[in-house]
Amino acid sequence: MEQFDCLIDGGMVLTVDPAGTFFQQGAVAVKDGRIVAVGPSDDFQSRPAKEILDARGGLIMPGLVNAHTHLPMSLFRGLADDLPLEQWLSDHIFPAEAKHISPDSVKLGARLSAAEMLLSGTTTCCDGYFLAHQVAEAVDAIGLRAVIGQGVIDFPAPGVPDPKKKIHVAREFIKAWQGRSVRIHPSIFCHAPYTCSAETLLAAKQAADELGVLFQIHVAETQIEARQCRQIHGCSPVQYLDGLGLLDPKTLLIHAVWADKIDIDIIHRRQACVAHCPESNMKLASGIAPIPDMLAAGVTVALGTDGCASNNDLDLWGEMDMAAKLHKVQRLDPTVMDADTVLRMATIEGARALGMDHEIGSIEVGKQADIIIIDLEQPRLAPFYTPQSHLVYAVHAADVRHVMIAGRRIVQDRRLLTIDVEDVIRQAKQMGRIIQK
Ligand SMILES: [Zn+2]
Repeated sequence: MEQFDCLIDGGMVLTVDPAGTFFQQGAVAVKDGRIVAVGPSDDFQSRPAKEILDARGGLIMPGLVNAHTHLPMSLFRGLADDLPLEQWLSDHIFPAEAKHISPDSVKLGARLSAAEMLLSGTTTCCDGYFLAHQVAEAVDAIGLRAVIGQGVIDFPAPGVPDPKKKIHVAREFIKAWQGRSVRIHPSIFCHAPYTCSAETLLAAKQAADELGVLFQIHVAETQIEARQCRQIHGCSPVQYLDGLGLLDPKTLLIHAVWADKIDIDIIHRRQACVAHCPESNMKLASGIAPIPDMLAAGVTVALGTDGCASNNDLDLWGEMDMAAKLHKVQRLDPTVMDADTVLRMATIEGARALGMDHEIGSIEVGKQADIIIIDLEQPRLAPFYTPQSHLVYAVHAADVRHVMIAGRRIVQDRRLLTIDVEDVIRQAKQMGRIIQK
């Protein structure tokens, strides 16, 4: 009889498969880093496993997918708040980056962010920043799964002092990381249509296509951006990108707050995907993305936190809660963005947006064993009626008890096994004192 490497047994299991299969008392078997069986606990009574992970009192579910982050920016958490995007970027973030971002600080910020995400149940993120090689090294070492995008922008940036070399740097990063780690997927991240020329955008997309990687870009984030785009290019930011031929299933559009009906139709026709970041959009007062309209049109929408400087955390539980409620209040309709829809955005739809839904995003046989276990024995989680309701409206990051990625235990009883968290916090605080000077 086949011996499992690990049997996660005794908890509720929410698979987030297409049928929404749920087991009141179930088990998930893992072998060679993949899910090899899932079902009611009774089916596993005589199946041997090298190791049993006791999930009684817990809920077993797929790890969360954060579709938009800037990992090193956790070092700027709380540095500048309560400002419009343009002023926040130009007067605070860009100068702080110019002064303090280095290979070492990028690694530190990425480790801090990875620790925060893992302890809160995020097993995959999609990142865009500079010095992507250092981000990838930090993320790989801690055991997180990630799409890591090398930033592309038309002015000197950390690690790319000569903007003429930006596409070359991105290409070299991708080539260096393709096939290097099964958990790291290199990518290209163009900052925005207003910070990258048409020539830059075309060259970046061409490189992404040639190398077969995801192309990420912030787009239509603020009303000012949308207005300026119409003045300069005579069309909306989404139409501008489409006119350049940049929209296809391997393009991830981040924010798309100011997308109108024509834009949504274009995004759907091109099968491009959208990363929705409600808390960042709220904090910078960018607006409310027309997500219910995108979903109705059949667009794949993922959920992201954005960077720590504009959120100010990487907690997808809070993001789900906010995504569900924000659209209800805007539409004065509590039936939009139901809990199951939002939970799927943070799991399987996130995986789909990254082109990874065949590997992650749900508990299904053959997929990677990226699994988290929520501790339900909390006052805020009793009684229990439906899992989706608790996961979107009541669970906190601190309720994540165990985390497994590719079958490897990363968090056990709320303790991160792959990194010295206290040391990372100490270094981050030290760095904060330098940044504040
Ligand atoms: Zn962003």
